[in-house]
Amino acid sequence: MNSFTYTKEFTVDAALKAADDEKAMFLAGGTNIIDLWKYNLTHPEKLIDINDIAALNTIEVLENNGVRLGALVKNAATAYDPLIEKWYPLLSKAILAGASAQIRNMATDGGNLLQRTRCYYFYDPDVPCNKRIPGSGCPAIEGCNRIHAVLGASEQCIAVFPSDMCVALAALEAVVNVTGPDGKRSIAFADFHRLPGDTPHLDNNLQQGEIITSIDLPPNHYSKHYAYLKLRDRHSYAFALVSVAAAFEMHGNTISKARIALGGVAHKPWRVAEAEDLLKGKKAASENFALAADRILAGAAGRGDNDFKIPLAKRAIIRACEMALNPETQIPGAGPSI
Ligand code: SF4
Repeated sequence: MNSFTYTKEFTVDAALKAADDEKAMFLAGGTNIIDLWKYNLTHPEKLIDINDIAALNTIEVLENNGVRLGALVKNAATAYDPLIEKWYPLLSKAILAGASAQIRNMATDGGNLLQRTRCYYFYDPDVPCNKRIPGSGCPAIEGCNRIHAVLGASEQCIAVFPSDMCVALAALEAVVNVTGPDGKRSIAFADFHRLPGDTPHLDNNLQQGEIITSIDLPPNHYSKHYAYLKLRDRHSYAFALVSVAAAFEMHGNTISKARIALGGVAHKPWRVAEAEDLLKGKKAASENFALAADRILAGAAGRGDNDFKIPLAKRAIIRACEMALNPETQIPGAGPSI
């Protein structure tokens, strides 16, 4: 039996004050933390329920015409918000490709960023795992690694980050706003999650005691040409083997701006700026998408079971880019088999 205290706080300041030691943990939607707790992977001694902090449960338009998502807005509420559907349909589509309707109704936007890998070994306390117990080893490298990373992995960990929403947020260049004991700061989305390196136990750059307050979406012109393509073992309630968020600004048939992010292939959403630059000023044609895919996948390496992800990712990138040219043909929340 693990004993813990439970408190509910109604302001960010009160929540920060309550989280005064490293055994404290914030509770929002609970869709991952409760799993982790049941699996005996986390042991908070102080649980601080932040669900009733009303200031973090709003979606608002910013002065620069971007949109701010409060950290406690539910994933479903975000996906179906008229502003998001109209200005950031890529984000709506990615959210609706993830989890189940029930989970999307509970999970929060801030919590989505903090979910942990679904590596089977991570959830099995009877085997070593460098993410769970640093220095204990990584059985996935020589073991079952069908779902694991082909980009940005290390000899310490080859886990992937499981979110769909975050792949779209990476492509949209979102900014994560946090508040902590040392005040407020904003983190570019590309810098929020970490690669495993020698510290695979750290998923992101959030510091002890910090709380995500909101996620800013910069204004953009991607609402006409976008796609989220998710490839998985079954059509719903499964994590991505490979996913692609693609968005273009177009001038006629010429790409003036491209954004491409991958999910299911690395410890964080994977974006390669050079590949996006390569498409700038080019015709929207499959051969150019293939060149971009090759650049994105440069250095990709499988570990056996997951070798198939590399050619699959190339085809998925090309297909997602083709789909982005004509978004109205896409099936909500799903993608074709390729
Ligand atoms: Fe643990 Fe990472 Fe290896 Fe999975 S891939 S067993 S999470 S160290």
